[in-house]
Amino acid sequence: MDRIRFDLLGCDGRARRGELTTGHGKVQTPAFMPVGTRGSVKTLGSEDLEALGAEIALANTYHLYLRPGVERVAEHGGLHRFMSWQGALLTDSGGYQVHSLADLNVVDDEGVTFRSHLDGSAHRFTPESTTEIQARIGADVIMCLDQCLAAGSERAAHAVAVRRTSAWARRCRDVHGVHFRTYDYPQALFGIVQGGVDRELRQQSSAEIVALDFPGYAIGGLAVGEPKPAMLDTVAWQDELLPRERPRYLMGVGYPEDLVRCVSRGVDLFDCVLPTRNARNGMAFTRRGRVVIKNAAYAGDGEALDPECACWVCQRYSRAYIRHLHQAGEILGLRLVTYHNLFFYLWLMRAMGAAIEAKRFDAWQAEFFAGYSVT
Ligand SMILES: [Zn+2]
Repeated sequence: MDRIRFDLLGCDGRARRGELTTGHGKVQTPAFMPVGTRGSVKTLGSEDLEALGAEIALANTYHLYLRPGVERVAEHGGLHRFMSWQGALLTDSGGYQVHSLADLNVVDDEGVTFRSHLDGSAHRFTPESTTEIQARIGADVIMCLDQCLAAGSERAAHAVAVRRTSAWARRCRDVHGVHFRTYDYPQALFGIVQGGVDRELRQQSSAEIVALDFPGYAIGGLAVGEPKPAMLDTVAWQDELLPRERPRYLMGVGYPEDLVRCVSRGVDLFDCVLPTRNARNGMAFTRRGRVVIKNAAYAGDGEALDPECACWVCQRYSRAYIRHLHQAGEILGLRLVTYHNLFFYLWLMRAMGAAIEAKRFDAWQAEFFAGYSVT
């Protein structure tokens, strides 16, 4: 195959069922991408991702750039080979981590200067350099460098971020175009829309980014502290502002209920650290809602984490045992909840895909929320 392709297979209302074809297999959408920050989904191996049926995972450019470094990944033939993962990979541009992790960061029209959170060394990301870094890491889908602001930033600051994000998107595109290859498979560059929760800025950003004709678009700048209704409204606007035939990726969202609400508003791809990070803090996501396994109520509970779940964790281990592992600080406890949570998230995406295909997404959604507690 010479380029990454997206086929919209069907819709039910605004909800979409599609297929992203990459050089590392097909990705059925709606899809959730487990986050493999440093080239591993914490506590899981690539064989676990295969067993989960994950078709695409995400890795963070900022972390891999700092350690082990792009040269090390490239000398092993790219990240797929380095981490022995046959499925598709998406990398972020690194901009968000610079903003949230680096000890010091200064953004100007040319790029971002920052100090490593590891050793304080000084670095600079530009649209050109992050595109090249991601190309060499070897992700199937790579993202433009953008400027993401915290919720509550001034409108004037958002306007600057929108202008800068558009200028940077053009520069990212100018490096290799939107379809290219660094290794023996195709890579695609996706654009990112900014604008906070301001409708006019979203319109402006969408028009400028879509004019650059990317094969896919991300909705950036959400899940950064804005109220949930504003986030959902913005996603609904984006559905109207982005081309129907290209995939839409909502960055950094979210809880299971958010995934359902955003699929119903036209989103195809998601990533979030919640199912994995919260797993390590002892929070399991189930068909009934959240289970905080450290709660004393589970100390003698012989039920599975999620009695309706088909994963091997739920087939084999009790809440009481998993609670004990978390209380005792046993590594296995982190792994068991991580595996279950991703199993649940991936089940949820497949269930939504099947409901869209059957043209019964609204009914499915009502059934899901009837049995699901959000708190
Ligand atoms: Zn399970």
